[in-house]
Amino acid sequence: MMAAVLYGREDLHVEMVAVPSLQAGDILVRVRAALTCGTDVKVFKRGYHARMIVPPAVFGHELAGDVVRVGDGVTRFAPGQRVVAANSAPCLDCFFCHRGLENLCEDLLFNNGAYAEYIRIPARIVERNTYLIPKQVDYQDAALVEPLACVMRGLDESGAQADDTVAVIGLGPIGLMFVRLAKLRGARVIAVGRRKTQLDRAARLGADELISTDVSPDPVKLVRQWSGSRGADVAIEAVGKPETWLWAVEMVRRGGVVNLFGGCPQDTVASLDTNRLHYSEIICKSSFHHTPEYISKALEAIGRREITAEFFVNREEPLVNLLEVMRHLMSHNGHLKTAIIP
Ligand SMILES: [Zn+2]
Ligand SMILES: [Zn+2]
Repeated sequence: MMAAVLYGREDLHVEMVAVPSLQAGDILVRVRAALTCGTDVKVFKRGYHARMIVPPAVFGHELAGDVVRVGDGVTRFAPGQRVVAANSAPCLDCFFCHRGLENLCEDLLFNNGAYAEYIRIPARIVERNTYLIPKQVDYQDAALVEPLACVMRGLDESGAQADDTVAVIGLGPIGLMFVRLAKLRGARVIAVGRRKTQLDRAARLGADELISTDVSPDPVKLVRQWSGSRGADVAIEAVGKPETWLWAVEMVRRGGVVNLFGGCPQDTVASLDTNRLHYSEIICKSSFHHTPEYISKALEAIGRREITAEFFVNREEPLVNLLEVMRHLMSHNGHLKTAIIP
């Protein structure tokens, strides 16, 4: 079969590899859509990801497709079914799993290899984090479950409620999902981004106010002005830069919640105003990853058509073009996702 293999920094080959063989409990899925993700672009650039992927390895983690073969003992799935599988499954038996923090599982099993004709879904993910795709949902919509689950969990962690003012910094696919979900929840959303195309997308998803950081280099001041000079109830950082982490902390009201959602480059440090954090009782969260519960919630939201690929995926490419797609995503910020059709 054809598959993308990551060998190291910006070293990616689409080549012939053996179709994965199955062990008991595994399933084999013919990939119908694999979506590019900011994490993939980071991994492509750095050549590895400490927890998720160590090269050489097959690559890609957001996928939907058809079951073509099942391993011994699989009863939940059968060939011909349309499925979406998450990229990880927790052990359910460690310190963190026992406390409902499956996203921090000490033995989180990751799966990669979505940019391929076939992918093996290991038994643990088959058992705990693979789902049938509802009839009305197509493959690209279904493949959004992984990022959407992270965002849904992140918004819940922030406690955003109807009528809250929620500021979202960063309008890539993740930031745009936050805009959409916060609007569905009845919040007033201030979207902070750089490019006009991104701000236009945020407006289409319901953002009430837009701040272009190209035009207004001090978004903190504007967010405060537009929220009765108090500051936003909730600020979500979805960029992954220490500088924008600080903005988020500075733009919430007293007692407000900050979700530092964007992962910054390794070895970066953000210096926070200790007085502000303490005397204004700022609550800082930093949500990472997802849990099986949120993967199923995300699929339900997709099934209700609350989130669809049309707003988050704007390009389709065959697998052979993956290297060019990765290079393109790496050199231009502000892109939506590309659907790779292997
Ligand atoms: Zn992803
Ligand atoms: Zn665990």
